Amino acid sequence: MSTHIQKYLFEAGLFESDSRLSFADISPDNFDEFQAVLEKVANKKSPSGMSKEMDTLKYILKVLKTNKEYDADDDFILGTYKRIKQEIDHKGSDQLDNLLSKLLSGKTSDSIKTSHATFINSSIMADKVFKERVNELESFLKTLKSPHNKTLGNNLVVRFVRKEESKSSAKYKRDKDEIYLRPDRKITDGDGYGSFVYVLLHELGHRYEESHNTKEFESVEWITTPYSMKDTLSGNEHFAELFALSHWPEKYPKYQDQIKKFLEKVK
Ligand SMILES: [Zn+2]
Repeated sequence: MSTHIQKYLFEAGLFESDSRLSFADISPDNFDEFQAVLEKVANKKSPSGMSKEMDTLKYILKVLKTNKEYDADDDFILGTYKRIKQEIDHKGSDQLDNLLSKLLSGKTSDSIKTSHATFINSSIMADKVFKERVNELESFLKTLKSPHNKTLGNNLVVRFVRKEESKSSAKYKRDKDEIYLRPDRKITDGDGYGSFVYVLLHELGHRYEESHNTKEFESVEWITTPYSMKDTLSGNEHFAELFALSHWPEKYPKYQDQIKKFLEKVK
């Protein structure tokens, strides 16, 4: 048995040791092993946002079954391999590995509830990274003071999403009252402009706008960063940018007058 497949069998409780199978390593030598594992998961419900990968997984299983049933010769096997490899390359072996791992572990959507928010992982981010991100963001939310902490109540949900669900690094989803964050986007580390915590606070600004009248901030005197000048799907960005900037006034001396006025108005 390939050493890699043992990881999955281990997670499924069928094998005692723990090492990892990857779609990147598929070859005619392990067709049977892949088939056996895929048969165990093909009828399971797709984890949220992964139905396309689920279809690919089923397709691979179908091709493997056909290959086996036809008592295939070398040419046929090579054809099978090429078809499978093409699908894997198209979808990305990481995505398929992650799907298989989720299906075998029975976890279709991970969520962590902290004192300030519920974090949900609908992305392909690994569990370990998800937990690290949650720790980082929760530690940040704890530090918020008025007016910024006023956006934390009423079951705040922060959802890590795949790129298909959000074109931008983050967005506030009004209809669901959820903040979407893209973990695959390379953003600034720490708490600098564009960091995860900055972006989160910006989106919390949009959440604040939902329950407050912030119309007056649409006038040009509230323009700050280049991004604040954009018209986005969220509408006017003046308020959300100032909401985030004003948590770190000392970092943004360039906008100090506006930040000061902003904090006098928004309490
Ligand atoms: Zn925005």
